[in-house]
Amino acid sequence: GPLLEARSVERSYGRTPALREASLSVTSGEVLAIMGPSGSGKSTLLHCLAGIFTPDAGEVWFGGRRLDTLGDARRSELRRTAFGFVFQFGQLVPELTAADNVALPLLLGRTGRRQAYQRARDWLRRLELEDLAGRRTGELSGGQTQRVAVARALVTRPKVIFADEPTGALDSLTGEKVMELLVGLARQEGTTVIVVTHDARVAACADREVMVRDGRVTDPYAGEVVR
Ligand code: ADP
Ligand code: ADP
Repeated sequence: GPLLEARSVERSYGRTPALREASLSVTSGEVLAIMGPSGSGKSTLLHCLAGIFTPDAGEVWFGGRRLDTLGDARRSELRRTAFGFVFQFGQLVPELTAADNVALPLLLGRTGRRQAYQRARDWLRRLELEDLAGRRTGELSGGQTQRVAVARALVTRPKVIFADEPTGALDSLTGEKVMELLVGLARQEGTTVIVVTHDARVAACADREVMVRDGRVTDPYAGEVVR
C-alpha cells in the first residue's frame, strides 16, 4: 500500500481556503513532483503531509498509521526520525558552522559527537561543500546555504524527504546535481522524495507529477482530480 497518503484534506487560513478535499498517495521509493501556480496550495499540502500542519478535515496516513491525529510529541519525534526537510527558510542556524548545522539533527538524537561530525562531513563532501565545513552558514551564498540545508535533511537517513523549491536558489547545474542526488537516494535506498517545484526540468526528474489547482490535486495532463 501507499507509504504516505492525504485523504480529502481541507485546510483554511482564516476564511481563505487553501486545500479543498486534496487527496494524494505516495509509495515507498517514489519521487513525486508537486507543481501548480503560486497560491494554489502546494506548500500547505506539503506541510499537511509532513505533519507540520493539522488539516481542518480529512486524514493523513503514514506507514499505515494516522499522522494527523497523533499527539504533538509523537508527531515531532516522527518528523525528527523519519522525515527530512529542505525548505527555503528557517532551517539553518546562521551563527553555527556548516558542519555544526548538518551534525545538529544527529546530536539532538542519540548519535555521539564524533560520529555525528563524521557523517556531517561525509554529506558535506557529497554536496561538494567540504571546503566550507568550518564556515558559519550566515556567511554563505544562497546556493551554498541551500546545499547545506540538503545535507542537513539527508544526514538522518530519512524515509521521506520533503522539499519545497529545493533548487530555487541554485544555478541550473547545481540544481540538477541536487536533484540527481535525491533521485539517486530514492533508487539506491528507497527514500521517498516529495518535491514542490515550479521548474519543469526538476519535475522531469520525478517518477510522477501532480498538479495542485485551487486547492485540489489534479493530473497535470488530463486536468482531472486525482483520487
Ligand atoms: P503555494 O505553495 O501553491 O504557493 P500555499 O499553500 O502557500 O500555495 O497557499 C495557498 C493559499 O493559502 C493562498 O491563497 C495563500 O495566499 C494562502 N496562505 C498561505 N499561507 C497563508 C498564511 N500564513 N496566512 C494566510 N493565508 C495564507
Ligand atoms: P521539537 O518539538 O523536537 O523541537 P519540531 O516539532 O520543532 O521538533 O520539529 C521537528 C523537526 O521537523 C525539525 O528538526 C525540523 O527539521 C522539522 N520541522 C518542523 N517544522 C518545520 C518547519 N516549519 N519548517 C521546516 N522544518 C520543520
